[in-house]
Amino acid sequence: MAWPYFLDCDRFFAGEQEGCHDPLAPLRARHEVAFSNLSPDEPSTIIQFAYHSNAQMYSVLKRTAAKCSHISRTYSIGRSTEGKDLLAIEFTDNPGGHELLEPEIKLVGNMHGNEVLGRQLLLYLAQYLCSEYLLGNQRIQTLVNTTRIHILASMNPDGYELAAAEGHELNGWTVGRTNAQNLDLNRNFPDLTSILYRNRRIKRFRTDHIPIPDSYWFGKVASETYAVMKWIRSVPFVQSASLHGGELVPCPVIHLMNRCGASFIRSGGIINGALWYSFPGGMSDFNYLHTNCLEITVELGCDKFPSEEELYPEWLRNKEALLSFMESVHRGIKGVVMDEEGYGIKGASISVRGIRKDFRIMSAAQMAASEQGPLLELYGGRKEPKWLLLSRVLC
Ligand SMILES: [Zn+2]
Repeated sequence: MAWPYFLDCDRFFAGEQEGCHDPLAPLRARHEVAFSNLSPDEPSTIIQFAYHSNAQMYSVLKRTAAKCSHISRTYSIGRSTEGKDLLAIEFTDNPGGHELLEPEIKLVGNMHGNEVLGRQLLLYLAQYLCSEYLLGNQRIQTLVNTTRIHILASMNPDGYELAAAEGHELNGWTVGRTNAQNLDLNRNFPDLTSILYRNRRIKRFRTDHIPIPDSYWFGKVASETYAVMKWIRSVPFVQSASLHGGELVPCPVIHLMNRCGASFIRSGGIINGALWYSFPGGMSDFNYLHTNCLEITVELGCDKFPSEEELYPEWLRNKEALLSFMESVHRGIKGVVMDEEGYGIKGASISVRGIRKDFRIMSAAQMAASEQGPLLELYGGRKEPKWLLLSRVLC
C-alpha cells in the first residue's frame, strides 16, 4: 500500500517498510536528471525551486550570464579554503566596469554555510533579472540599466557542502556554519568597531575609512574573508545586503531602510543591530567603517535550512523586498566633484554636517580597475583634494 507523504506518514506508520510513499519523488528524480544534463552553454529558461549543489550553482550562474551576456557576466572574487570558486554574477547595461553615476550594490548569501535560503533566493534573483530583462519588464530594465548589481550567492561553499550533506531534516544549528577552518566568517573581519569606540571621544575622529590594524594579519584570516575584503576595497559599493537565516528579528526598529524594507519588515522587521546584540569582526561593520558602503544584515526566517517545498513560497515572499532594496540605492544624492575649471578632483571627500562619516570618491586604483574611459576625465584633476560641506542630505 502506498500512502501520500502529505498525510504525515510518520504518524501513521512505524517504518518505511509499511509503505510511505512520496508521490513527488519520481518527478523530482526526473528534474534532477534533466538538470544535470544541461550544459553550461545552454541558456536556461526554467527556475528550479530546489536546492543546488555547488556545481549546479556555478552552472546556473554561468548559464544565466551566457543567456544575458549583454547585461551580465560572472567573475571570481577568490577561492574558499578548500579551493572552491567564489563566483559572483554581475548585472548592468555595460558589464565589466564602473560607469559614471551608476551606483554599485552587492548581495551576499550563505556566509554561514548552513543558512541556505539566501543562497537559493539569490540564484533565483539572478535568473529572474535575466529573464525579465529579456521579456521587456520595464522595471527590471530600468533597474539594470541604471545600477551595477553584484550577486555572490555563496560566500561559504565549503560550509554549505557539509550542511547540505545533512540536509533539511537533520541539519542542526551549527554544522556547516563556519568555513573549512572552523572560522565563523562573520567574526573574521578586522574589528574596526573597537577602534571606533576607543576613539569616539576624539573630536576630529572620523568613522569612515578606518584602516585595518596590523595586528589583524597576525590572526587567522580565512581565504573567504580575504577575498571579500579585496572585493569590497576594489569596487565602490554604496549599499549591500548580507542574507542570513535562523533568527527572526523580533521587533521593527526602523532606521535608514524605511523606504526599501517594506517586505523585510513584514517578514520580521528591521532592527538596529547594535541594539540587538553586538560582536566584533562582523562583515557589515567592516563595510561601513572601512569604505563608503552601508550593509544591512537580513535575517530571512527562523529556519536555517527550510524544506524544498518552502523555496518557492519564500521566493514569492522576498522577491519584492529584494527588488525594492536594489532600487533604494538610488536614494540620496549623487554627482561629480569638480574644480572651477571643470576637472574632476581625485580622492575628494564629502562631509555631512552632524555625521562623523565622510564619503570619499573612488581612488585612482579603483579607477584603473574600472577600465572606463569617461571616468578618467573625472579623475584627471590637477588640484589637491578639497572638502565640500553639504548642509543636508536628500534621502
Ligand atoms: Zn548567519
